[in-house]
Amino acid sequence: MATALKIAPPEDKISNFVSRTHRILINGKWVEAASGKTFATYNPATGEVLARVAEGDREDIDRAVKAARAAFETGRWSQLTPSERGRAIWKLADLLEENLEEFAELESLDNGKPLKVARVADVPLAVDLFRYFAGWATKIEGNTIPISVPYAAGAKFLAYTLREPVGVVGQIIPWNFPLLMAAWKLGPALATGNTVVLKPAEQTPLTALRLGELFQEAGFPDGVVNIVPGYGETAGAALAAHPGVDKIAFTGSTEVGKLILQAAAGNLKKVSLELGGKSPNVVFADVDLEDAIAGAASAIFFNHGQCCCAGSRLYVENSIFDKVVEGVAEHANKINVGSGQDEATDMGPLVSAEQLNRVCGYLESGISEGAKAVVGGGRHGDKGYFVKPTVLVNTTEKMKVVQEEIFGPVVTAIPFSDPAELVTQANDTVYGLAAGIWTRDIQKAHRLASQLRAGTVWINCYNIFDAALPFGGYKQSGWGREMGHEVLEQYTEVKAVCTAL
Ligand code: ADP
Repeated sequence: MATALKIAPPEDKISNFVSRTHRILINGKWVEAASGKTFATYNPATGEVLARVAEGDREDIDRAVKAARAAFETGRWSQLTPSERGRAIWKLADLLEENLEEFAELESLDNGKPLKVARVADVPLAVDLFRYFAGWATKIEGNTIPISVPYAAGAKFLAYTLREPVGVVGQIIPWNFPLLMAAWKLGPALATGNTVVLKPAEQTPLTALRLGELFQEAGFPDGVVNIVPGYGETAGAALAAHPGVDKIAFTGSTEVGKLILQAAAGNLKKVSLELGGKSPNVVFADVDLEDAIAGAASAIFFNHGQCCCAGSRLYVENSIFDKVVEGVAEHANKINVGSGQDEATDMGPLVSAEQLNRVCGYLESGISEGAKAVVGGGRHGDKGYFVKPTVLVNTTEKMKVVQEEIFGPVVTAIPFSDPAELVTQANDTVYGLAAGIWTRDIQKAHRLASQLRAGTVWINCYNIFDAALPFGGYKQSGWGREMGHEVLEQYTEVKAVCTAL
């Protein structure tokens, strides 16, 4: 007799998950906060409560760190064969891919981003990232090193290095790409054999919590991945300061990055930081105008400008300045702003009321100092946290809108004529995360690429990410790199072993 297979439609699955009481994942168990407290996560398109989530705090962080420590010390993860670890991560990637639609929906509901974007960017990139790091698990190698030892004439040695996991890793992530940031952090930490306590952003905890369930389904041993939702000043600060944590990895604002560094000083835990940016995007007059205009618009408006690498300072060569500004403004006008759940939406709301106020505050400050909004310039509608895509002109280098990270759909367009001055202006920022260059002249492009103080330079493209491509900042944009083989160094200690023969 054939058994009818009933697969719950995604909508049921999603509403079942959202309406559940969300708990903390410690040592393979979903538990309430020690305090019994919960906090709300909101739908930014409406401002209404989406779900209630256990509010992790110092005590929960302590329990999670102890579970991660026990899992590390027993070797139930680090002592698996590299191949077994790699396969577990690959299995996780498969499960994530199978549940792509559900994750895209959850991300769109919790963060506000268009569902159609989460479907083709956030979730597939996270799947790909886990697969990339699954492959690395079997390739974490040391070296054999020929040594000379001048004071031991005639002696022979065999010397080699081992790469070992750092131990218990705390990871604190932001709300702009909640699932993808979890993947960026967890992939390399797990491939190298560490155990983890992850704290998602309080604005967007849902996909990380659902991912926790997939880790269980994929058969990860208890305590290897612990997930503690909660606020930054409490749970996040406790994790950064915890003496039982060997390394802290943080993505977020430069301001909080500095607090993380101070908190980490107590036990000198290793620190990696992926922080803010105010990235220059430079358009030369020889460019294919249509491409450059579309590129400049997407560099700032993608993800509602809530990208640490957003191309928020647009430098355009004088002779084409008006055309480019007009073109970017036209793109902005065509952007359909609305709920991320609506298939017609190109740009959803900002993530929170706080973010809405912050971005509107910057707009008011810029305009009151003499900047002009060619398009946009304020809030969109009066419900939810929407901001109009905005192009500002008539700015000066000293204005806050030119110097500070706005983290919203706001670009300042600035004309230039002298390439040498341009380099000085483009680098005149405390940040150094990313930059864009648009030109048909390859000499010009590569010369400028070498002069810009930024961790990523995109030439005739923008926002191109890949698990194999390192990403991170110069100057106050951070320490260390995410992704690529570079990140593996941050999750391993090097041990030199020397044997007298
Ligand atoms: P934003 O200002 O864009 O919200 P933050 O840098 O404040 O970015 O937040 C990024 C992450 O850092 C979030 O998970 C947040 O909870 C956490 N966080 C905020 N403040 C602290 C803190 N003092 N210590 C540790 N983590 C923090």
